[in-house]
Amino acid sequence: MVLRDTFMSDISAATLPPPRRDSYPALPSAGYVRLDRPVARAALPDPRSWIVNWPVYQQLTGRDRLGRGLAVRSPHTEHAAPRTEAAERVTNSVCPYCAVGCAQRVYVAKVNGQDTVTQIEGDPDSPVSRGRLCPKGSASKQLVTHPGRQVRVLYRRPYGKTWERLGLDQAMDMIADRVIATRAATWQETQDGNPVNRTLGFASLGGATLDNEENYLINKLWTALGAIQIENQARI
Ligand code: SF4
Repeated sequence: MVLRDTFMSDISAATLPPPRRDSYPALPSAGYVRLDRPVARAALPDPRSWIVNWPVYQQLTGRDRLGRGLAVRSPHTEHAAPRTEAAERVTNSVCPYCAVGCAQRVYVAKVNGQDTVTQIEGDPDSPVSRGRLCPKGSASKQLVTHPGRQVRVLYRRPYGKTWERLGLDQAMDMIADRVIATRAATWQETQDGNPVNRTLGFASLGGATLDNEENYLINKLWTALGAIQIENQARI
């Protein structure tokens, strides 16, 4: 049944004779395929080209006697191309995930008329990483392209069970109001007679994808507000 949905979809039903169980041809093996119709003759490979392209034949007659190169290269590999090939421009950047700061090359191409990040690779010119990225950095393309990425503010009210969308301005005002109110309510000028000028009413916990510059500003803001509990994954 799988065959009818995939492989056979290319073959017009009108060209096929009625199904006959005794006429099933031998197919190249594909474990999950189950035949319930014979395959059109044109779909079978020509025996001569099949033998000529057989890796063993190529090993015996060609220069790749050990079968590590051309002799065993599949048609899929033969037609494969780098994911960066279609890029229209390349921008240099830095991986945002951790303090190593590996350099990246961001490949951009037009997709549906829009500039789109099509691939992110390590930058070989970087003295830090010399073209390498760890698995996390290699997946950083998803930061901008993954369909599950949230690009709108979501808010869950106290005791609420669902998320609701808020406008960015409204969300920023709500955060600012709460920070100011909390600071006023929890401000400490002294402790045990010593000046401290701080609040323990709020703390900051940054995410790993914030970059150095963002963390610098966040650290400065929270310190100026009197917070002493400021943390971040990896970068501060
Ligand atoms: S997360 Fe990986 S690729 Fe990114 S900076 Fe750190 S080590 Fe480099």
